[in-house]
Amino acid sequence: MHLFLNGIKRHYRKEINRCQSCGMPLIYDKQYLSGNIYCSYCHDGISFIKNNITLGEMQRKIDHLLLSKNSNIIIRIYMYLRLATLKRWRRL
Ligand SMILES: [Zn+2]
Repeated sequence: MHLFLNGIKRHYRKEINRCQSCGMPLIYDKQYLSGNIYCSYCHDGISFIKNNITLGEMQRKIDHLLLSKNSNIIIRIYMYLRLATLKRWRRL
């Protein structure tokens, strides 16, 4: 039970600490700039690398990436929906 809960906590931390543009867990970003809410592939600390990309384009880009890694359909649907909740794309 204890190990199970530690596993949940680890996944939870990964889940909440996603790049707020592409959704990648920030612990996977080797060039990550401390304090940035975006990964180094999306943002250089001053501005976005691709300023004009739309949410739809980002969703397609990430889906292609997941498809190339043989991710299952549940993960692909999850990330498609999750992207729309990230700070860069949220419209409230
Ligand atoms: Zn990113």
